[in-house]
Amino acid sequence: MLRVTEIKLPLDHDPAALAAAIAGRLHLSPEQLGGHEVVRRGYDARRRSAITLVYTVDVAVPDEAGVLARVQDDKHVGQAPDMGYRLVARAPAHLAQRPVVIGAGPCGLLAALTLAQMGFRPIMLERGKVVRERTKDTWALWRRGVLTPESNVQFGEGGAGTFSDGKLYSGIKDPLHLGRRVLSEFVAAGAPPEIMYVSKPHIGTFRLVTVVESLRQQIEALGGTYRFESRADDIEIAEGADGSRQVTAVVLANGERLATNHVVLAVGHSARDTFPMLEARGVAMVAKPFSLGFRIEHPQALIDSCRFGAHAGNPILGAADYKIVHHAQNGRSVYSFCMCPGGQVVAATSEPGLVVTNGMSQYSRAELNANAGIVVGITPEDYPGGPLAGIAFQRHWEAQAFTAGGGDYRAPVQLVGDFLAGRASTKLGSVVPSYKPGVLPTDLSTCLPDYAIAAIREAIPAFDRQIRGFSMADAVLTGVETRTSSPLRISRAGDFQSVNTQGLYPAGEGAGFAGGILSAGVDGIRVAEAVALAMTAPAGAK
Ligand code: FAD
Repeated sequence: MLRVTEIKLPLDHDPAALAAAIAGRLHLSPEQLGGHEVVRRGYDARRRSAITLVYTVDVAVPDEAGVLARVQDDKHVGQAPDMGYRLVARAPAHLAQRPVVIGAGPCGLLAALTLAQMGFRPIMLERGKVVRERTKDTWALWRRGVLTPESNVQFGEGGAGTFSDGKLYSGIKDPLHLGRRVLSEFVAAGAPPEIMYVSKPHIGTFRLVTVVESLRQQIEALGGTYRFESRADDIEIAEGADGSRQVTAVVLANGERLATNHVVLAVGHSARDTFPMLEARGVAMVAKPFSLGFRIEHPQALIDSCRFGAHAGNPILGAADYKIVHHAQNGRSVYSFCMCPGGQVVAATSEPGLVVTNGMSQYSRAELNANAGIVVGITPEDYPGGPLAGIAFQRHWEAQAFTAGGGDYRAPVQLVGDFLAGRASTKLGSVVPSYKPGVLPTDLSTCLPDYAIAAIREAIPAFDRQIRGFSMADAVLTGVETRTSSPLRISRAGDFQSVNTQGLYPAGEGAGFAGGILSAGVDGIRVAEAVALAMTAPAGAK
């Protein structure tokens, strides 16, 4: 197969035009092509009046070497890379011990699936509930303001991204094409096949629920075991005379002890009780930078027309997104985070007495508002005090937002016009905020550090220069967006194990190695491979 990149065609091109364009690039006639597969389809909307689709395709040709020789000056034609995935090990017939995966988010799911496919029969521990039960608990907060601390947007089968926009792309380096493997497992589990080739795939909330259920069925059919409502509260570590440390067991909240020497720790960034337990057990970790800010909501139609002009509403383009950055005079960077076209702002706390925002959408992205986090980068210098200090810092601002919202899980909101003018909002305007169970118009300046407020005040008018209307007076800011990534990193070595605790594999977003569904899934695969290789290594080998 040959790979041809940068094939540009008009947005409304005829289906046959693609084969003709491929043939033209290869100096062949369309009849000489032996079939092609679209590997990627993006768009270039820099000129709104002439939006183009940009394709990457793999194509079969009769005489590859001859064709390559003819087009050797075209740097966009070459041999197609091998993107297939091969399992790295096979479990022995008699498995002495089963690996334990803690956390059924995308990282834990892909780790458990990969281990199960290799025959390691993982035990999956999840503190929350099975996804359909979890959905009811999540809606109870959104509809009635009733929080279930162990079953919510952050905790339960599927992990943090289950009620989300389901964006499935990432900027990570991925030389082994593991992102593609995550996508193909999702498709096998019921996700729409187009996620394999569109440049910014997303699947929305309801489809993710089905995917998560199907992955569970596969893992169980391969000999894996799920344990829901089974929080890991402790790990046991044997210390050798030489100072070495080896995980020997996981202890559940009910006191049950699971003996194991291999633990994938994929607990996500909201496991605020698990991190102190790990620190108390001496597991090496460090504070790391993260970001905090607000969610902003605009009419989706405004974003569509600004990005796509007359092509707004075109089904191939879908609802428009944006990605914007501003470097403020006080040295802070302000950027859009987890933009959700045609979606809604959601209540995302996992602890009582706190308000946290995030965004989600359905596959159709058909809601009236566009929303995105507008967040400010911060570093451990802003929250000194060791690896756990970032959690305390997040909690402080989440509690401020809870109070500012009225103390009943409504979120505090402020109109952009009022925020820029430095006055409290007392009523809403034309943009109806989507956050449930409700909002309270107020002054958001008590909900973030002064430097963050100043940076966002400077950034919004600057963003308006890129997206005309971004600073519209009636756009709504909702507080607070604090859980953008983990505030700490659990240090791990090249073999994916904790730097000071053998058999502990910190993984995914909570451990600081992923930032999103796709990258968490990729990390899960990498860690599962490391576990499998360690479990099949000859005795005495590390
Ligand atoms: P998580 O998904 O957080 O999973 C961790 C799991 O571990 C949870 O199920 C939790 O219950 C469990 N757990 C925690 N502690 C314990 C314990 N002690 N014992 C047992 N189980 C435990 N990312 C995107 O890429 N695209 C999006 O569109 C997107 N939208 C989002 C929308 C929302 C509302 C939220 C909250 C997040 C969104 N994200 C999105 C981020 C994405 O969800 C995370 O990056 C991703 O889920 C991280 O995966 P993970 O497996 O590392 O951790």
